[in-house]
Amino acid sequence: MKSLGIDVGATTIKGGIVSDGKIVRYCKVPTDTENGAEGILRSLYTVIERLIGYADADSAVGISSTGDIDPVEGKVIYATDVMPEYSGVDIKKLVESHTGRSAFIANDCVSALIGEMRYGAGKGCRDAVMLTLGTGLGFAACTDGKILTGSRFRAGRFGHVLLYKDGRRCPCGRQGCNEAYVSATGLMRTAHKHGLMIADCNELAQYKDTQAFRETIGEFTDDFAAVIWNVAAIFDPEAIVIGGGLVHLRELWWDELAKKVPDPQLLRAAQLGNESGIIGATLLEEPDIAKSWKEAEYEAV
Ligand SMILES: [Zn+2]
Repeated sequence: MKSLGIDVGATTIKGGIVSDGKIVRYCKVPTDTENGAEGILRSLYTVIERLIGYADADSAVGISSTGDIDPVEGKVIYATDVMPEYSGVDIKKLVESHTGRSAFIANDCVSALIGEMRYGAGKGCRDAVMLTLGTGLGFAACTDGKILTGSRFRAGRFGHVLLYKDGRRCPCGRQGCNEAYVSATGLMRTAHKHGLMIADCNELAQYKDTQAFRETIGEFTDDFAAVIWNVAAIFDPEAIVIGGGLVHLRELWWDELAKKVPDPQLLRAAQLGNESGIIGATLLEEPDIAKSWKEAEYEAV
């Protein structure tokens, strides 16, 4: 079985033909956010057109996307200003009429967790959570085999749970959210506070032997551990899967973090790397996964 999975992000739209949990063909294009929804859709269609000929004729198009997503209606409920005009876009319907195939869409961290639970770091678990540390802090939870959705598909926005009262400004408009500390952007801000004027977290490694680096990592892992303690207390998971861009720099912070959390053996680095969203997206059409949304919809009525 070969199916098409797509990951829609604010910087790039990536697509892959997935067979048995492996990407056998891949492409990515920059996301055209300068022309609003029309530009974003044009970038999405470019990826679809480049790859769809390689997918089985009867397969669906799976989409993992940034923002709050309603997977039942297949719509974007809300996206921040980094994706202008994306809020409210009826992705499922548009992609279905563009391709003539069924389409399924879910939030990117939800898709990544589904991918990791099938093929990666959460394999064999029924209770697992995922944190993705990139520009922001993504979160998804699966409890007793069912993806947590909430009544309006907004449950588990851990990135915007308060960490420090009157703390750093967050893109959501509030102050002191987890995301302003525990994300790639947050780590960079912590580094700046300690005098390391890096433009990118990849530059951190060159300061490894400095006191400022030790202070940066000490503070970052204190904040990260606070998030992990909260997540563990609320969800009692079998695994806490950590993904997103920062996981590739984990030799800088992982050991320090592990010393500060309640059950370090629960921490697992994402195994599907940055492609877990693409791989998870191809699983969205499965009835067992769709059941998570259908039940949520039923309970919400
Ligand atoms: Zn926030």
